[in-house]
Amino acid sequence: MKYSQLFIQTLREVPSEAVIASHRLMLRSGMMRKIANGLFAYLPLGLRSFRKIENIIREEMEYIGSREIKPTVVIPAALWKESGRWHTMGESMLRVKNRLNDEFVVSPTAEEVATSIVKGELSSYKQLPVSIFQINTKYRDEIRPRYGVMRGREFVMKDAYSFHRNDSCLDAHYQAMGDAYRRVFSRCGLSVIAVKADSGAMGGDGSEEFMVESEIGDNTLLVCKECSIAANVEKAACKDDFSPAPDSVLTKNLPEVSKIDTPDAKTIPELCNFLKTDAKKFIKTLIYRAANVELDLKEASNGWAFKAEKRGSGLVYPEAFFAVCIRGDLDVNEVKLAAALKASEAALASDDDVMRITGAPVGFAGPVGLGSVPVIADKTVKYLYGGICGALEKDKHFINVEYGRDYKPFIVADLRTVKAGDACPVCGGVLYEKKGNELGHIFKLGFKYTKSMNVTYLDENGKAQTPIMGTYGIGVDRTLASVIEEHHDEAGIIWPMTVAPFHVHIVPVKYDGSVKEAADELAAQFNALNVETLLDDRPERPGVKFNDADLIGIPYRITIGEKNLGQNVPLVEVKKRTEKEAHTVPLKDCAAKIAEEVRLELAAFKTSAL
Ligand code: ATP
Ligand code: MG
Repeated sequence: MKYSQLFIQTLREVPSEAVIASHRLMLRSGMMRKIANGLFAYLPLGLRSFRKIENIIREEMEYIGSREIKPTVVIPAALWKESGRWHTMGESMLRVKNRLNDEFVVSPTAEEVATSIVKGELSSYKQLPVSIFQINTKYRDEIRPRYGVMRGREFVMKDAYSFHRNDSCLDAHYQAMGDAYRRVFSRCGLSVIAVKADSGAMGGDGSEEFMVESEIGDNTLLVCKECSIAANVEKAACKDDFSPAPDSVLTKNLPEVSKIDTPDAKTIPELCNFLKTDAKKFIKTLIYRAANVELDLKEASNGWAFKAEKRGSGLVYPEAFFAVCIRGDLDVNEVKLAAALKASEAALASDDDVMRITGAPVGFAGPVGLGSVPVIADKTVKYLYGGICGALEKDKHFINVEYGRDYKPFIVADLRTVKAGDACPVCGGVLYEKKGNELGHIFKLGFKYTKSMNVTYLDENGKAQTPIMGTYGIGVDRTLASVIEEHHDEAGIIWPMTVAPFHVHIVPVKYDGSVKEAADELAAQFNALNVETLLDDRPERPGVKFNDADLIGIPYRITIGEKNLGQNVPLVEVKKRTEKEAHTVPLKDCAAKIAEEVRLELAAFKTSAL
């Protein structure tokens, strides 16, 4: 393709809003332009790489037996009401009405429509398993779109959905999906870390995220120095470090709880100072507000005034409050807490709510005698003997507090935020933190959608059964930006061959006379060999063309100049974008030689070779 026909404009200046390399380079190289905050247009150069990533994903999905479909992006609200997510997706979901006042959703993800399509087709066990995918537009009204297409509002996701008769069938497909993802990212030239992940608003158990390490990553990963397992902080567990160790204390002889005055001391450091003790002695108690709680609170009902609503097949509490207890030196992880409560989110309650619930200002909450909300405990407090906690009164604390004797939590769960330095739950090694960006996510969903949307098939005995489901996503735009993050230098992008917009960049020093003739002829030879070429036919100075070639980052640059062409054996200069030095090759051998190198580089990444 001729440069002059590519509709491409490179930029010398670095656009000021672009703070990360991929955003800067995508704008500077003319791959894409901003339409509005979080909305971008791919231009021809960028779209070529974008399509290559889509195709790699498509090939790997087909390879594991997932089949492509193309539903709409605009989905009737009724499906989202059926699943219950109409109420839980919050403000990030774009809702629209048509002229008849019918409500629709612009897909932020597509479990509902995929489930409804399968529901319409499925009748017999003989049709299962089913795995379908789409590569399609998604819209999420992100609060803070940033870093270019890394976090946009509109983006393209490959999302796959699978339906199975049983766990083992789902497990096998989940494994195959994970392997397909590893191949996708490796074919794109990306180094990914697979981490155990929380499944968030998706519901269900068993999920893995595929992360790239990144300074601007939104995710904190905990990685073990010894065994290298990695987990998202939203899910990460650590080895128990009960303090004191459960068997080192005799609990029977502990004195009764007593109330003490703690004037002017309400933070844990202040109290430690005042009581000459350490933070591990405290039963830190925080009041949380949770939304859309699916945990059954009836059993524990002491007359808590939470209103339940019937949604789908079960009861949901749109709003409920909890007192969450954790050892004083630790922090509660809100994602883990939301998961334990089966809630869509959990956040600290307002000061007014704390006052209403505990009868005291913030700083004096404690589980003893707290009857107004359920007490949820992190497992660290279970073995905290002779604990200290707020006494539900300003400037008062309880001491000698005993789990089980003085308070009984409604549930006990792992709620702590694991930090660097904690011990690996598998091998006991030291954990360290990394920042990561999520490119893909696979989950075993269970029956969440198939139950709420009433999907059934008939088994061998003619009995209606509900299929179990998995869901699997990859962000195409974010993958593309991450490739650039991993492959660039000061001068520009350094494309891996598999996703490069072109394989070869032909730069005639001056597009004229014999040089023009040789350049055209070479491009024709490459075309015949299926090598994608960009021919810089602009009347620009060589320096400008070389700078643009480095910026655009096509793997091979072939420079054609009069001097080399005038040798006994006409020569051209070949430079790989990954290498500093150029070398000359005879013009007559150039196309065949480089076509072979390109072919080998592409073949190395083909699935059949992996
Ligand atoms: P994040 O935590 O980054 O918001 P997510 O957990 O919301 O991601 P999923 O719902 O699992 O993401 O979506 C699957 C994939 O879609 C993500 O792994 C990511 O690659 C991509 N993705 C999600 N949100 C965006 C966005 N705003 N812009 C670009 N890609 C996105
Ligand atoms: Mg998100």
